Amino acid sequence: MKTKLCLLFGGKSAEHEVSLQTAKAVIKALDLTKFDIDPVFITKDGEWRKGSALTAPVEDVKQLQFEAQAEVSPAEGLVPAKEASYDIVFPLLHGPNGEDGTVQGLLEVLNVPYVGNGVLASSAGMDKVIMKNLFRDAGLPQVGYTSFIRSAWEQDKEASYVKTEKEIGYPCFIKPANLGSSVGISKCTNRAELEAGFEEAFQFDRKIVIEEGVKAREIELGVIGNDFPEVSVPGEIVAKKDFYDYKSKYVDGDSVMIIPAELPDGMAEKLQEMAKTAFQTVDCSGLVRADFFVTEDDEIYINEINTMPGFTPYSMFPLLWENTGVPYAELIEKLVQFGMERYEDKQ
Ligand code: ADP
Ligand code: MG
Ligand code: MG
Repeated sequence: MKTKLCLLFGGKSAEHEVSLQTAKAVIKALDLTKFDIDPVFITKDGEWRKGSALTAPVEDVKQLQFEAQAEVSPAEGLVPAKEASYDIVFPLLHGPNGEDGTVQGLLEVLNVPYVGNGVLASSAGMDKVIMKNLFRDAGLPQVGYTSFIRSAWEQDKEASYVKTEKEIGYPCFIKPANLGSSVGISKCTNRAELEAGFEEAFQFDRKIVIEEGVKAREIELGVIGNDFPEVSVPGEIVAKKDFYDYKSKYVDGDSVMIIPAELPDGMAEKLQEMAKTAFQTVDCSGLVRADFFVTEDDEIYINEINTMPGFTPYSMFPLLWENTGVPYAELIEKLVQFGMERYEDKQ
């Protein structure tokens, strides 16, 4: 029996384009003798559109001509009719309204199985402040951090800057709490940059986090599974820029991935243990990419987890798994399986 897979992609977030790339790659990779694919597209304005079911592979999601389709409600998009309902939904969405537990909540209410993290892990993983607090409780090493909400900053901007300089100092990184793909992030080395960084980050969120900047290698690991997660080999991102910003992630493509990363003896195992701890601490299921900083003197800090990491065949997460012996199409099938198992486990 074929699995009916609803692919949900696009979305309102700044990572809309990335999601399209992912959908295109997943559609291309799926074995149509095992899966029937029903694509559901969310426009940048947040309108939901249903394409027709796929019976042949497509090269480009644009060929599915969603623009010509009528708008449907999210619930109609996901559960068209009882007899036509899906076996499982794969939300290929990044960032707010996709990776943050909102869509996952809708799927829970509709009682539809879905791939990837549940509501709690998705929302906790999306909010960098909450995530860091959970890591702190689990004893995972991290750089120093503090956070502000917009209204407090607006009331006394000077006090916010003084507090940041005192507690964090320079260089520091300012980030919107709820975003990804480096959107709205600035590195600051002086007061003028700090002020500009606050202004910038608050354009994207009402909450921001500020961290001590470290000079470090960036090492990432993939984790898949549910109650018994497995961890991939570590990979390294070498950004040619000062830091791994949005442009170097998606526009210039001028960063290099080294898989497996070259690390001192015993460090890969240590990172794998920490990646597993991060997965379990945030109560993840399905998949996570755990990102670390490793300094010159081999200090390890966890940077973040991503509950729906970049997922094109050229993205770090699938490449980590390919290098661990799980090729792209098999990885997708495993994730579908984990999604089914989690759903059944809950019944
Ligand atoms: P996102 O969720 O948008 O990927 P990250 O927290 O991973 O946000 O930050 C994006 C990039 O910024 C990182 O990959 C790294 O290059 C750089 N960066 C972030 N925080 C720090 C830090 N504390 N010290 C040094 N570099 C950092
Ligand atoms: Mg992230
Ligand atoms: Mg990151």
